[in-house]
Amino acid sequence: HRRPDDKRVLVIGLGRFGSSLALELVDRGWEVLGVDSNARLVQTFADALTHTVIADSTDEEALRQIGAPEFTRAVVAIGTHLEESILTTSLLVDMGVSTIWAKATSRRHGRILEQVGAHHVVQPEHDMGERVAHLLSGRMLDYVELEEGFSLGKTKAPKELIGKPLRETKVRQKYGITVVSVKRINSPFTYATEETVLQKGDVIVVAGRTDDVERFSEVI
Ligand code: ADP
Repeated sequence: HRRPDDKRVLVIGLGRFGSSLALELVDRGWEVLGVDSNARLVQTFADALTHTVIADSTDEEALRQIGAPEFTRAVVAIGTHLEESILTTSLLVDMGVSTIWAKATSRRHGRILEQVGAHHVVQPEHDMGERVAHLLSGRMLDYVELEEGFSLGKTKAPKELIGKPLRETKVRQKYGITVVSVKRINSPFTYATEETVLQKGDVIVVAGRTDDVERFSEVI
């Protein structure tokens, strides 16, 4: 019963991170089994999640009983309890869960999770800290680093780009970035083309090397 369209996910740890993730998945139509050893937390999310179970995820037998080996996707959202996080991840790897996301609270924790076999490691506090630093220190309205050194930035269209087709602004040669989307005041975002003429007040999304996106966002 491992279908590719399987929209079931096991979320272990219903703290701030795990519960937010689980609720969002339910909103997006996923079937979520939420697990936590804390009965009070499980109770809190019992109605909102598809299924909830009180269990200790470091107990192999308990994991088998809740059907963990049948899941193709699992999230280990245990942050502060290092040993629990690592042991849980390792058990899920042994059970053959094919996509395991694990939350790390430090770089070293993340490295260990990768070493025991987690497929994706996220470090929400660290990543959000970096992201806020970019937003705080620059003029960007929003920012996301898609991978090391490549980013998307949301910024107000600088004067230099206004009033002529993007092709003529030479923005790609000059700043190394590509304008991918445009948002007029009171309109949703739409894609940008070579012919797009930006107006005062437009908000744009640009893609490029992080340094270039950063530099471009300083242009007024
Ligand atoms: P956050 O910062 O997202 O709130 P925490 O690390 O504080 O994350 O919370 C992790 C959750 O994982 C807690 O609710 C805790 O009860 C749960 N947890 C920790 N160890 C286990 C375990 N062995 N089995 C099940 N749940 C666990």
